[in-house]
Amino acid sequence: MRSNLFDLDYEELSKVIRSWDEPAYRTQQIWQGIFQKFWNNPEEFTTLSLSLRKKLDQKYIFGVLNPEKDLQSNDGSTRKILYRLEDNAAIETVLMGYTDRNTVCISSQVGCGMGCKFCATGNMGFIRNLSPGEIIEQVVKAAADLGQNGKRLTNVVFMGMGEPFHNYQPVMKAVRILNDPRGFGMGTRRFTISTVGLIPEIRRFMKDNTQINLAISLHAADDLLRSSIVPINRKYPLTELIAVCRQYIQKTNRRITFEWALIDGVNDTEEQARKLSNLVGDMLAHVNIIQLNPVSHYGGKPAEEEKALKFKKILTDSDISCTIRLRRGIDIQAGCGQLASESN
Ligand code: SAH
Ligand code: SF4
Repeated sequence: MRSNLFDLDYEELSKVIRSWDEPAYRTQQIWQGIFQKFWNNPEEFTTLSLSLRKKLDQKYIFGVLNPEKDLQSNDGSTRKILYRLEDNAAIETVLMGYTDRNTVCISSQVGCGMGCKFCATGNMGFIRNLSPGEIIEQVVKAAADLGQNGKRLTNVVFMGMGEPFHNYQPVMKAVRILNDPRGFGMGTRRFTISTVGLIPEIRRFMKDNTQINLAISLHAADDLLRSSIVPINRKYPLTELIAVCRQYIQKTNRRITFEWALIDGVNDTEEQARKLSNLVGDMLAHVNIIQLNPVSHYGGKPAEEEKALKFKKILTDSDISCTIRLRRGIDIQAGCGQLASESN
């Protein structure tokens, strides 16, 4: 089987090129082709010699993502693409257009082993990790699509399927390759990794000291409630999680975003809002509230808008920065893992 060209960083590709007795500048030409011109088959590489094109084609595949479904929300702001991979697994990528930015929400795993009760991906269980190339190609394809409409990709969020810190090294390698100015050249600050709260990996991330943004999926402000909807909380309870977040902020001086999917009658109460204020009130933090996207396997309903506004007010009254995210693409099942969970 051919290897995926997108799995190689610049040095790895250079080594291959050298071993074929090709001049060093070929690496740069190949990277310009795949990351800047978005070429995805060897014939397009007119900058290369025929023999090199042939050799590349024999050994490498120029991407492994096959678009199978492409859905657009009624208001045109959100697109969701289902990709079929070489082993027939399915993942999804969501593109969101705003007035000032274009964000792609990408997957890091097929399925997820964390089992959060309200999550369609969690309901699939863990199937496998994505390779760096499979992660990278979601971003490159999004940029190519936007480019065709004269738009630019501005942000990448790991909020699709999977737990990115459960696939730590491939995720970090993907960001490193996408950041490399010899190719795609996307600034590290434009990436956000969202985690359910894996403490050892948060520590590791802190040590790695990148400029990638960190978001933590909190959803509850006491252990009893959190463990009931986010099972990994039993292993990494709130006090420890918040303590490591404080360390992270102290060490990096970077803000953390806490995510909160508001579920009717579960975590949309005044009590939870107050507990959350106490937990994060004195931190360099931002709270992102989203109304639950309904999923078929879970009985919870989205919180009422009035409740969401009240919840937000309790936080802002304590000077906590907070936004309510609009529910996007609800008509195309753009909630985390909702489309692919039906296709795996
Ligand atoms: N595994 C990571 C990233 C992927 S999920 C994490 O959990 O952070 C991205 C975000 O979508 C998380 O905050 C997650 O809790 C949230 N989410 C999952 N299912 C949802 C649903 N049905 N409605 C609203 N948000 C949901
Ligand atoms: Fe996994 Fe995130 Fe879904 Fe939890 S919310 S099951 S961690 S993808």
